[in-house]
Amino acid sequence: RVGDSGDGLVGEGGDGGSGGVTEEVGLVVEKGSAAGGSGGGISVRNPATGEVVGVVAAQSGQEVAAAVRELRLYQPEWEAMGAEGRKKWLLKLQDWLIDNTDRLADVVQSETSKPRVDALIDPSFAVDLLGYYARRAGKFLADEHPSPHSPLGRIKRLTTAYRPYPVVGIITPWNFPLAMPALDVIPALAAGAAVLLKPSEVTPLSAVELARGWAEIGAPPVFTVVTGGGETGAAVVDSVDYVQFTGSTATGKRIAAACAERLVPYSLELGGKDPAIVLADADIDRAAYGVAFGGLFNSGQVCISVERVYVEAPVYDEFVDKLTAHVRELRQGADGREPEHELGAMANHTQKDIVARHVQDAIAKGAKVLTGGKATGVGTFFEPTVLVDVDHDMACMTEETFGPTLPVMKVADEAEAVALANDSIYGLSASVWTGDKARGERIARQLNAGAVNINDVFANLFNFALPMGGWQQSGVGARWGGAEGLRKYCRKQAITAPILPTQQKEPFWFPYSTGKL
Ligand code: NAD
Repeated sequence: RVGDSGDGLVGEGGDGGSGGVTEEVGLVVEKGSAAGGSGGGISVRNPATGEVVGVVAAQSGQEVAAAVRELRLYQPEWEAMGAEGRKKWLLKLQDWLIDNTDRLADVVQSETSKPRVDALIDPSFAVDLLGYYARRAGKFLADEHPSPHSPLGRIKRLTTAYRPYPVVGIITPWNFPLAMPALDVIPALAAGAAVLLKPSEVTPLSAVELARGWAEIGAPPVFTVVTGGGETGAAVVDSVDYVQFTGSTATGKRIAAACAERLVPYSLELGGKDPAIVLADADIDRAAYGVAFGGLFNSGQVCISVERVYVEAPVYDEFVDKLTAHVRELRQGADGREPEHELGAMANHTQKDIVARHVQDAIAKGAKVLTGGKATGVGTFFEPTVLVDVDHDMACMTEETFGPTLPVMKVADEAEAVALANDSIYGLSASVWTGDKARGERIARQLNAGAVNINDVFANLFNFALPMGGWQQSGVGARWGGAEGLRKYCRKQAITAPILPTQQKEPFWFPYSTGKL
């Protein structure tokens, strides 16, 4: 998107526009965070107003390679420090985030137009995650000693050691400008890797702030942010030892191909089309509130948003009425800054146009709009929308919308709901709404989804002990949370050492004497 200033949201040139590089945003251009760059500048705008809130460099491949070379110098010492040594720095960063929460929320808000509550989630999420991994990394990285499988093995001490990839490249999207980077930067640093982060060119300012925090606490220079668009991201993929990517499925496929070329391991967190199944025995009030929140939080720009809803026939009318009434009450912020509103703007015009296309396609094929249905205001707002009479011939039920739409479909029974929920190329998360927890758990095991919440949404993501990751075209090899969320940044090393005093030679070494062991 660098240079695509046609939509007035991200543009090349670094002109600073009306607002220039504002004091509040506090753009960092010093070494070790977002360097000056030779590839021109990218203007970052508040999508609700079009106001320029900062400018970052579009960094070149050479600059990316130089950043990686520097990280390689410091990583061995960072690894040698051990989990206990690193814990001190992670907890210092946590203190810095706590001290700067309000200012960071301002930065998040300036580049996204999120409501205040949502903007506060970004730094708070990072704070929680730092506490979780700082305190558990030692346990997750501890050597393991598997039992030998044969008597011969018993003369050896067997060890599995977790050794970090030296430099991990992390590429993130724009929907949670601080939380998305934090989800991977923190476990990678805790694992002992050095980290090169390339945030989205749409919302780079919050990530730059994270790197500023790392520098301000005086931590070793093992965390660097490079800024730019797809070309800078591709240079990251070409330079690091492991790639963690969160973003669209289309970009994920390109990154997987580039990693295959270099034989570099990677993990991908990609798009989704998450279903909600509302069964006749559910608490319909709770289901209506939960599904509305699940589909419309952050204007639906969440990878695990509810993107389609299947409701059992006996409660369909009641559910649709309650959902529509609730959605009609939601307040959308005119410039994204009012304290009292639930929804902000879409991230950019491209995203808003996808939502409009899905709604128009549904209407053309016979769907009805019960509320919302159109773009509003000067920025990139799209009204929160409830659609009914939808089916799987419509884009809104099969392609990722990533916007404030809730298409609702009536189903005859549980079996039809499960079959339709599984009729997708994606498999990120799902929710089941039922009065019977055992039934919910049984249905969860029939769904093709990396995470399932019963009578809730997003719960998996806020419970760090759970490994969360997409199935099918929603992800490859990626896990957030738990030991796996940290160990994915490590290579396993198998070490053997003698237990008993060693002889001059093992019985099966050369020269063979008797022809048998
Ligand atoms: P995107 O794929 O357009 O961009 C993501 C990042 O990749 C950006 O930093 C971008 O600059 C970079 N990039 C683009 N081309 C690249 C290339 N060739 N090589 C390397 N990097 C490149 O996605 P987006 O529009 O920023 O974000 C929205 C998407 O992210 C949605 O599809 C959403 O579902 C997905 N997402 C998924 C999760 C998840 O956990 N599965 C979480 C958040 C967002």
